[in-house]
Amino acid sequence: PPDVEQLGRSTWTLLHSLTAAYPTTASNEQQTEMRSFLGLFSKLYPCWVCADDFRAWMAHPSGKNEPRLSSRAEFGQWMCEAHNAVNRKLGKKEFDCNFWEERWRTGWKD
Ligand code: FAD
Repeated sequence: PPDVEQLGRSTWTLLHSLTAAYPTTASNEQQTEMRSFLGLFSKLYPCWVCADDFRAWMAHPSGKNEPRLSSRAEFGQWMCEAHNAVNRKLGKKEFDCNFWEERWRTGWKD
């Protein structure tokens, strides 16, 4: 099986890059496409325990973790929260989601 850590870093790069490239305001079709990507991704991700936990997180009965896809700002924030849920599970530090866009889209200001 692939190295779970290397796979994870590469995959977060892809996932956050998708949010960075997402439209500032998304059409219904764009939202539907991304919803279906996330649904398939969460079934096909080749770390099965990771995929199962991620799917369960998204499907929290309260609905609080459902993908928020109306805009880049919403989706970027949601992905950051998803990544933080995994960070917490693994005992890693949480990332301050106010900075997701600087990390993944615009680059850090100095
Ligand atoms: P990563 O967590 O890979 O993060 C990469 C970079 O992203 C960081 O250096 C930081 O700059 C930035 N970053 C960190 N947090 C955030 C955030 N919240 N928002 C935006 N940017 C951020 N591993 C397991 O062992 N068990 C699991 O169950 C598991 N589930 C996973 C589920 C998914 C969907 C994915 C994509 C990965 C999963 N992984 C899992 C892998 C794990 O999340 C890490 O990728 C891996 O442990 C390497 O961690 P890292 O410390 O190098 O940084």
